Amino acid sequence: MPKTDKADVVIIGGGIVGTAIARDLARYDIDVLLLEQNPDLAMCTTKANSAILHAGFDAPEGSLKARLNVRGNELYRQLQPELGFELDLTGSLVVALSEAEMNSLEELYQRGKNNGVPGLELLPRERVLELEPNLSQEVAGALYAPTGGVMWPFGAALAFAENAVRNGARIKTECPVTGIETEAGQVTGVQTPGGFIAARYIVNAAGLHSDDVGRLVGDDSFTITPRKGEYILFDKKSGGLVRNVIFPTPTKVSKGILVAPTIHGNIFIGPNAYNSGEKEDVATTPPGLAEIIAGAKRMVPGIPMGAAITQFAGLRAVSDSGDFVIRPSTAARGLIHAAGIQSPGLTAAPAIAELVTAILGEQGLALTPKREFQPANPPAVVFSKLADEAKQALIRENPLYGRIICRCETVTEGEIVDAIRRPCGARTVDGVKRRVRAGMGRCQGGFCGPRVTAILARELNIPVTAIRKDKAASYLFYDKIPGGSEVSCDA
Ligand SMILES: Cc1cc2nc3c(=O)[nH]c(=O)nc-3n(C[C@H](O)[C@H](O)[C@H](O)COP(=O)(O)OP(=O)(O)OC[C@H]3O[C@@H](n4cnc5c(N)ncnc54)[C@H](O)[C@@H]3O)c2cc1C
Repeated sequence: MPKTDKADVVIIGGGIVGTAIARDLARYDIDVLLLEQNPDLAMCTTKANSAILHAGFDAPEGSLKARLNVRGNELYRQLQPELGFELDLTGSLVVALSEAEMNSLEELYQRGKNNGVPGLELLPRERVLELEPNLSQEVAGALYAPTGGVMWPFGAALAFAENAVRNGARIKTECPVTGIETEAGQVTGVQTPGGFIAARYIVNAAGLHSDDVGRLVGDDSFTITPRKGEYILFDKKSGGLVRNVIFPTPTKVSKGILVAPTIHGNIFIGPNAYNSGEKEDVATTPPGLAEIIAGAKRMVPGIPMGAAITQFAGLRAVSDSGDFVIRPSTAARGLIHAAGIQSPGLTAAPAIAELVTAILGEQGLALTPKREFQPANPPAVVFSKLADEAKQALIRENPLYGRIICRCETVTEGEIVDAIRRPCGARTVDGVKRRVRAGMGRCQGGFCGPRVTAILARELNIPVTAIRKDKAASYLFYDKIPGGSEVSCDA
């Protein structure tokens, strides 16, 4: 196979873990190349989860999950001002609905203290109902964590990726790794449909497929089971129903069905947890939805079912050890696994990145700090959040900010163009949606979808027939449309 490229480190997978690792490695004089099989970053587990910044009281003491959760939470709080991703420390409450559940909360409180979670408090019933008046009157008390919060996982992954690219890392999308080459037990590079890429260090951050990637070098030291979680999302008019992230008292397999705000002012309920045979099966099911509705109503009886706007499911990558698998491969030198990253993997991601960098250093990778490292991303315009005067000034400077494309979320053409032109820019309609929220509102893209398609075609200089909704072959139009890229977004 011809050699098409080379890098010091190849990262397989562009979810929150792979992008956080890319950003951490970009602090050093290393040639980093991240390969993602999908047309955009963070299209797998990172895009469909509860989006909670966990405080860290849930994972068993001494586990990697516990240590990296608490450290990851701290790192997000440090990184947010420079990387600019959306994060809101709402606080979280684990709610007990009986005296027996109160006993479990005391255990959880103690575990949290031992895990190093700051500021935990056991609150009495009256205080809980003061904070959250819409909770069930059965509430007996709650465990409060001030460092719990909500975030936008796609935005965090994008911020890591963008900063990595601004610091010299490279990202190739639609580039699946199909093989890993070794010589005398040492990795020499990866095979892709576009050719061979030479690298002496490879990081396996392939999520649900990280065991498949391990098997490319004969490493079957762990397996991954997909565990599904289903959700219902509610319109913003239900925002305010709860202010903190509300957890039930947890069970052995899951943190339970939550009722929580999203970072964008909606409310969601979910997830349930059951093993799914398929790594690609993200369908919701009637029994699953019934289960989460019942679970959510137990804590918040007034869930406004009429305000539900969409439903979705995500798959946890559960390793057979039950903990994260972050270590060198047992079968090939130079391959480092960041695998089995189930919950709280989103929260732990920046700490996982620190650990992977340290392991790479121990394995012989030279970690010379980059003198010109730029830690910050320039802030993006969020038109709807600006004061009227700032809006007017911006429109005078660039009239595209004066054209509202998504009416539900008040997203302007200027913001959509920015989302396409920034590093790691949008290439699909859903890529625009995840970056600037065009299509995320009540109409779910019914009005703005065609206009976003036309803007993408114009900016990328390709016909509208080449624009995709999301995944590989998700083309939106057939070539009977006359004019292709000339279709106007004036509507
Ligand atoms: C229901 C549910 C709820 C959760 N809630 C929370 C929460 O509230 N808080 C929290 O902290 N965590 C939560 N998690 C966990 C969190 O979502 C995951 O730990 C995290 O998203 C995992 O990120 P990742 O990068 O490892 O995997 P992914 O996001 O799946 O990324 C892996 C990437 O690798 C790519 N890939 C795979 N194979 C290849 C290949 N051969 N070549 C190239 N690319 C490849 C995939 O396309 C994918 O983009 C939840 C998970 C689920 C499912």
